[in-house]
Amino acid sequence: MVAYGAAMASVLVVEDDANVRTALIRELSVRSYVVRSVGTAMDALREVTQSPPDVVVLDLGLPDLDGAEVLKMLRGISDVPVIIATARDDEPEIVRLLNAGADDYLIKPFSIEHLSARLAAVLRRSVRSGPTAELTVGGLHIDLDRREAMLDGKPLELTRREFDLLAYLAARPGRVVARRELLAEVWRQAYGDDQTIDVHLSWLRRKLGETAAAPRYLHTVRGVGVRLAEPDPRS
Ligand code: CA
Repeated sequence: MVAYGAAMASVLVVEDDANVRTALIRELSVRSYVVRSVGTAMDALREVTQSPPDVVVLDLGLPDLDGAEVLKMLRGISDVPVIIATARDDEPEIVRLLNAGADDYLIKPFSIEHLSARLAAVLRRSVRSGPTAELTVGGLHIDLDRREAMLDGKPLELTRREFDLLAYLAARPGRVVARRELLAEVWRQAYGDDQTIDVHLSWLRRKLGETAAAPRYLHTVRGVGVRLAEPDPRS
């Protein structure tokens, strides 16, 4: 599905400046990216929904919606990696955007080499596979290379973040993983609020067909973290 590393990855460039857009398309295509581009936030949201790219480069100053607003809407529908391109060299703003779900940022004007390096890094990070390419815990089977998960032989439709979260926990069966560790290792954030984790955990639970009140695989350990374990056959 996804060509790992930089080769043949698809990039959606969201940029309203036609000159910048043309230059990015040309330069990224030369570097073997499959590039699509749109000039408005609404087109970007439609594009991500209809044919999700591997990574989005998002200009903050768009004609229809503010970039921060677009990022929020994007995060509501997708976990696609997003690199913000901004002319605003404003640290509080950048921190806010990273906490709002941006994966990285670039200050304009940037060189194509710089963008290319950031793209490759973001793509590498979104495909983390350990030494073992497959994980099995009870009826749960996870293929890290293909980024596919199955439960009792049925494929699970997971977002990127849900998959990363499930894979991280499944690689440590029976161990209570602290929220701080999940934030650092799955979200790559030094700090953040617990709600982000809770929301993703509850989505993941629903997809696994269980609830916090009647857990099978995912067990919340109050005040500590979460543990993934093989369900007790007696329960
Ligand atoms: Ca712009």
